[in-house]
This record gives sequence, structure tokens and C-alpha cells, in this order.
Amino acid sequence: MGEFKISLKEFEIQFYKCQRCGKCRVVCPTYEEVGWESISARGRILLAQAFLKGDLPPTKRLIDSMYLCTTCKFCEEVCPADVKLIEIGEAGRADLYRLKKIPEGYFKLLQNIFTTDNPFGFDPSTRTEFIQKVGLQEKKADVLFYVGCMASSVRRLARVANKTIDLLKSMNINFTTLGNQEVCCGEPLLCAGAKPEFEKQAEKNLKLFQKVGVKEIITACPACFEVFKNYYPKIFGKMDFNVHHILEVLAERIRKGSVEFKKEVNMKITYHDSCHLGRRMQLYELPREIIRSLPGVELVEMKLSKENSMCCGGGGGLNVAFPEVAHSIAKKRVKDALETGVEAIVTDCPTCEFILSHAIVEDKLKIRILSLVELVSSAEPVFQAD
Ligand code: SF4
Ligand code: SF4
Repeated sequence: MGEFKISLKEFEIQFYKCQRCGKCRVVCPTYEEVGWESISARGRILLAQAFLKGDLPPTKRLIDSMYLCTTCKFCEEVCPADVKLIEIGEAGRADLYRLKKIPEGYFKLLQNIFTTDNPFGFDPSTRTEFIQKVGLQEKKADVLFYVGCMASSVRRLARVANKTIDLLKSMNINFTTLGNQEVCCGEPLLCAGAKPEFEKQAEKNLKLFQKVGVKEIITACPACFEVFKNYYPKIFGKMDFNVHHILEVLAERIRKGSVEFKKEVNMKITYHDSCHLGRRMQLYELPREIIRSLPGVELVEMKLSKENSMCCGGGGGLNVAFPEVAHSIAKKRVKDALETGVEAIVTDCPTCEFILSHAIVEDKLKIRILSLVELVSSAEPVFQAD
């Protein structure tokens, strides 16, 4: 079994590592919006200490401090004392969840997952409505394409799933999907601090994976990717399947020289690193390698990119509880992209695509957003057999 710390008590020693330098404050997207010290990682540590000592009850200020965070990990990236800020945030949320002291918006999200296995609360029978039916096969399959709730619930994001399915088919990968039996990976439960329910959700998924006999999971959602790869082993120990983001599968083919692109894309784009694939999974070069291989694509970097990339505002469930803050962060990120003079933002994450596209539509901005799998598909790849 892995190690899954679930209480602030287990992080007391970490609190004393903080040098109060304030570097975490400078990079924090929610601190920039709200402007309260208690929203920065540094402030969160002080409140957490006071809470643990019993000096501070679970007030609204404490709840806001724990949940007004996109979990983007930028603070941890710059922290000179190597404080485990993400785990402290997760533990703080778990402690508050146990006391049922969570922001209002999360109750509906949790209820949705408990009743439909979907954060939006959609009936499971509609899960694959807009997606090519690959379906749960009777025969066992080595490879499972796990679609994820965003691409299966939001109509315009179905493109991410459908293009991924097209790419898997053209790579001649023998895969299946769970169809309407697919359930949420549990990431929103983690964001809410609902650790026991997250573990139950993970068990539910594990049973489904075992039913298919899966040896490899491929997903197009970096949040599902991180959860399966890094969090499930904390519960179950070593897993008997591998987990890959579709971009890893594509990059491998490109490196081997086993793909030829038939069409010039002719597009100037910028790439938005999702916090999950970037800072949390450390995959910065891999998507850029793919972009550089596409004929006619010019990549212009934003001033904040790779390990310094700014969150889209949609991480950590921020959009659920504090939509105005999330939206304002998204607008800033779109502004970063507009400054590059490109025609499109390309990203690896359906949630980033969702929240950034809202900001674009609302302000009627002249920039498109698309997923990297769509961009790859538009270059009409032809894969050679392995
Ligand atoms: S994870 Fe991101 S949003 Fe949360 S405190 Fe750190 S920098 Fe701020
Ligand atoms: S960057 Fe690290 S050491 Fe500096 S104040 Fe923030 S948590 Fe403390």
C-alpha cells in the first residue's frame, strides 16, 4: 500500500520549514485576485497551525483559505524551503470535509457524483451521447481509453474524445472504452477533501478496469491521468496496469519516426500547459515536441509557460465554489495568449479548454482554443504499423 496522508496533523513538521519569504504569494493566481494573505500558501500555513492548536475554529476565513486555491502547484515550484504545499492543502480540505465545513458549491458537486458518478449530475445513460461508440467489449482488452467526465459530458469537448478515438484507431491500437459504465475518476472528490469517498470511487474504477482485464489505460484528460498514475497507488500500492496520456502515446510514435503528416496546418499557435500535465506531471517538452513535428505550425510561447505557466483558473474545483475568481483568472490567461498575436490557444486539458473558452466567448475575443489532439488530427497523420 502507498502512503496517503489525510490530516493536517501529519504535516506539522512541514509548517516549521516555512521561512516566511513570501515567494509563494508572488506567483499565486488566487492571491493576485483576492489579495488576502490568508489565501496565499504562507497564510494558509499560519491558519492551519492555529487550527491544529485549537486556537482557530473552522471559520469562513479558514474554509476560504483552504479552498480558494487552484492547486496549480506554482507556490511549491518556487518555495525555497520545499514545503509540501499541495499536500498541506489537500490535508486541510480533508480535515474540513470531516467537519462538513466546505464551501457551498461543493455540496452539489459531491451529490452529483454520489448519485450519477458524474460531477455534472448527468444520467449515466447519456455519458457517450456525443462520442463515437467503441463500447465495452465482451472480450477482454489490454488497452482502455478512459474518456473522462469533461469530454463525455460537455458537448463541445466531445471532439477531444472523438479525435483521440480516431488517433488510437489509426495507430492500430486494439482498445476499448467503458461506454456508459465509465464512472468519474474521483479527482473532484479529492478537490473537495472527500478522501473516504475518493477511495470508494477508486475501488469502483478498479473493479471496472479488472473486468476489462486492462493492462494499459490511455486518457486524454491530464487530471484523470495524474489521479490514476499518482493517487491510486497511494491507496492500492503498485498497480497492475500502466497509465498514459494520449500525448505520450503520440510522442512515442513521432520519436520512432513512424508517423507521416499529410497536411500542412498553417497555423500560429501558443501552448497552454495545464497544471496537471505540466507542474504536477512534469511533462513540458513532450507536447512541444509534438507541436514542432506538425507541418506548418508555428509555436509562440506566452511570457508565462512551462514550469512558470499560469493556471487557467479551473483547477482544484475553484470554478465550483468561487466561479468569479476562476473566471477572472481565465481572462488573464487568455490575455497572456492574445499578447503573443497567435490565432489559437492549444492545450492538453479539457478543463482548461472549457474555462478558457468561456472567457473567450464572453469577451468576444479573436482567438480560438483547441486541444492538441485536434491539432494533430488536422495534420492528417498516417501511422506505420509497429
Ligand atoms: S497551488 Fe496555486 S493557487 Fe494554490 S496557493 Fe499555490 S500558487 Fe496559489
Ligand atoms: S515560498 Fe515556501 S518558505 Fe516562502 S513563504 Fe511560501 S511556503 Fe513559506
